[in-house]
Amino acid sequence: MKKQEVLKPVIEHPVQELKPTERLLFKSIDIHNTGKILKEDLIKSLNNVGIRKDDPRIASLYDYLYKSESKSDTLNFQDFCTAIHSCAVLIEKSLKKQLIIPEFNEFQATIQIIYDEVKTNEEGKVASYIPQLAKVSPHKFGISICTVDGQKFSIGDSKDYFSTQSTSKPINYCLALEAFGEDIVHNHVGREPSGSSFNAITLDSKNRPHNPMINAGAIMSCSMIKPEANPAERFDYVLSIWDKLSAPTPLKPVFNNTVYLSEKRTADRNFSLTYFMSEKKKFPTNTNLMETLDLYFQCCSIELTCEAMSVVAATLANGGINPFTGERIFNANTVKHCLSLMYSCGMYDFSGEFAFTIGIPAKSGVGGGLMLVIPNVMGICVWSPPLDQNGNSVKGVHFSRELVKHFNFHNYDSLMDVHSGKKDPRSRKIEAKLDTIGALCWAASQGDLGEVQHLIARGVNFNEADYDGRTPLHLASSEGHYLVVETLVRLGAHPHAKDRWGNTPLDDAQRGDHEDIIAFLKTL
Ligand code: GLU
Repeated sequence: MKKQEVLKPVIEHPVQELKPTERLLFKSIDIHNTGKILKEDLIKSLNNVGIRKDDPRIASLYDYLYKSESKSDTLNFQDFCTAIHSCAVLIEKSLKKQLIIPEFNEFQATIQIIYDEVKTNEEGKVASYIPQLAKVSPHKFGISICTVDGQKFSIGDSKDYFSTQSTSKPINYCLALEAFGEDIVHNHVGREPSGSSFNAITLDSKNRPHNPMINAGAIMSCSMIKPEANPAERFDYVLSIWDKLSAPTPLKPVFNNTVYLSEKRTADRNFSLTYFMSEKKKFPTNTNLMETLDLYFQCCSIELTCEAMSVVAATLANGGINPFTGERIFNANTVKHCLSLMYSCGMYDFSGEFAFTIGIPAKSGVGGGLMLVIPNVMGICVWSPPLDQNGNSVKGVHFSRELVKHFNFHNYDSLMDVHSGKKDPRSRKIEAKLDTIGALCWAASQGDLGEVQHLIARGVNFNEADYDGRTPLHLASSEGHYLVVETLVRLGAHPHAKDRWGNTPLDDAQRGDHEDIIAFLKTL
């Protein structure tokens, strides 16, 4: 035997060769053991757990099923493996019921019951301080849910646009934090509930607005969003962040100029607050007051749908990473601060009561929107314009109360006796969703680019190796997944890493005859 062969044995990949995982998944659909499954059954199985046809993570699967040459409506095992390879991890978690809400249909049915009950509540009055809000039908009612695993469900008027109003405040705060960091931002704005109404002319003992969830605080946040840029660039930037937070949606966040003009004309209080803070010298030096106020009005005049807002909330629930695109929009620390203040200050003068009885970080706006964030689980948006005397959507608050009656989503429900009668719809397997190098190696070996990007965004170090010294780049090269190889290298993966047999990713690619990868790795 040549020395070379001793040093570089052909590595066995039993998992790949026998494909036991894929077989298991295939069988979960092919229950009669016919060796074939209907394409429609695969899509139905995903739909049952809340993974929808328009999910970009299954776009290539969808293309393979419906846009390829084959007119057959069935898949054999080999077709199945080819079809799912670009989203293998998501398919595995879905079919093995390892998504955060494994019994999604059941969960959905309960939400529907709550919706039907809440719909009969006709209390409250639509905001009337500007005509654009006053004319919205009081009967509009939508609920959208999006989990951190991208499971989606909507009922009612979930595709209608509504104006964000105060639900834009958490985002303004996140943007200020991302730009200037906690210390500087909190020199200018406090983090205590104000104890008075959202637009009261009052500051804390250090002359700061009490918190970023009330008008004065949100105006202050706006002063820290790209202050060096011109007004158009500042707003474009804010809108682009809303876009990324809610992506992908055909109904993108938009700007409503009429709402903006009306906001501006009825803003004596916001002008007063701004001058009051300016008098106290609380704005960062060189703040242009009028441009800052303008940006604040523009942020309140962004419109989006309930569905899109639920994805924004899910991105916050997911620590700042959009569940569909895998892009990190905000740092986890930024989101932690934001959720803390939504928890204590997000519901106007009802914030303490909401934290006590419902126990979920939330932010409402006078447009009737309510964003709920259940960390590590899901984001929810409820939209119904009639407001209570605190300025919160009546149906939004009603829904929230019912939600925590049925499910243990109150922040401190985890302390309760397991026999509290509430359901825990979450998968206990969340612990298995380890952000480890093992998960990244597996995703790389499957060619699941989306999952690879997601894990990297969550902070998994792609230059770590498994116990055999195999890095994600080794595995992607060995299995011939060019896009994964290219992405890993572009992000900084070490192209010459050696596994415990001394093999580099190039050796692996050569062994598998993956021409494109060989050519690419040779350039490095
Ligand atoms: N545009 C409103 C204002 O600044 C926001 C009101 C709200 O949703 O709380 O007065």
